[in-house]
Amino acid sequence: MSKACKLEFRASKETRERLFACNRLSGQIWNDTLALAKNYHQEHGQWIDKKQLHLATKGQYPLHSQSIQAVYERYLQARENALKARAKGYTAIRYPWRQKKNFNTRWKKDGFKIYPHGKIELSMGIWQGQRQKPLVVKVKKLPPYPIKEIELIWDRKLKLALTYDDGLEVKEATGVNTASIDLGEIHAIAAVCENNQGLIITGRQLRSTKRLRNKKIQELQEKISRCQKHSRQWKKYRKAMNYVLSKSEAQLKDGLHKISRFFVNWCINNQVKEVIVGDVEGVQRNTANKKTNPRQKRRNRKQNQKLSQWQFGKLYKYLEYKLGAENITIRKVNEAYTSQTCPVCGRKKKVSGRVYRCYCGYSEHRDIHGAKNILTKEKHGEFRDFVVNKIKYLRIA
Ligand SMILES: [Zn+2]
Repeated sequence: MSKACKLEFRASKETRERLFACNRLSGQIWNDTLALAKNYHQEHGQWIDKKQLHLATKGQYPLHSQSIQAVYERYLQARENALKARAKGYTAIRYPWRQKKNFNTRWKKDGFKIYPHGKIELSMGIWQGQRQKPLVVKVKKLPPYPIKEIELIWDRKLKLALTYDDGLEVKEATGVNTASIDLGEIHAIAAVCENNQGLIITGRQLRSTKRLRNKKIQELQEKISRCQKHSRQWKKYRKAMNYVLSKSEAQLKDGLHKISRFFVNWCINNQVKEVIVGDVEGVQRNTANKKTNPRQKRRNRKQNQKLSQWQFGKLYKYLEYKLGAENITIRKVNEAYTSQTCPVCGRKKKVSGRVYRCYCGYSEHRDIHGAKNILTKEKHGEFRDFVVNKIKYLRIA
């Protein structure tokens, strides 16, 4: 299976500067691609294709030909994604248009060589009739598998993201049950399985990371707003802001990895064959801090919403990947009213607090309630009550 890792590396000062230049150059290629696409469309009334982009960019930059190709392939991919989203009715989604100062440079299989002791040679292109000197970097430890691709990324500093194949096959499917997840409150995941088992995972670490992050961002934003734009102080705070963002992102990802791993193990133990996840646009519930002033509240909510969507997307991706390795499928289903409706009498009410309680006597942990409704709606076409007899709590510390 395909895997990825991020590595720090050592390189000379000159190489480091050239690496920075690579990502600036890739940004330039991205911007040129946008311009090419625009002109082509104006001239021909059609979309530019891969072949045209290849002809237009070939030999125009000192990067390796596959690295140039990698940039316009990303453009084509982004255009394709936007097309699909628009076809689904998300008409606010724009085709790629944003100019970029930097763009991650990628080296594909002919673009790099691996030597013993972690030495990596990244090839450059032919420029003015001459093959440019390769870039040589050293990493501490390489994954012991064939490397498929290397990407030069910025994560508080320059790092290499390696894609490789670990040679492991997808396991044979043995599951029989369907399980559902309610991701209503994102620092927790609640799931139920057809065999009447329930699971609640609370990500304490995630919650505190998020709180700390938001507090720091707010402080910095206030400081930034008091500075003159582009002043030295302003730049300093912006830099600090980027640091906070990327560090908390790394911590959140780590937490999400742990949660998804735990969930996958639970699925294996319960012989799950497919997982369904409630999908709703406003994933966020009850997150606005009522005590703060309205302006702040709005900003926090917007920020939280963005973070939540990011987290939802990441967690889903991790689950997709890890469940996939166990031959368990995952898909999104419509979550309409699953959190509000009582499965016994059909009354609707908004939930407040941890427990969903209905006048008819039904009560259930709020997120388990959501997961139950997601499951029965999908299985029987209607909400039904059933007993969840074992709820496992785990606090990811
Ligand atoms: Zn009821």
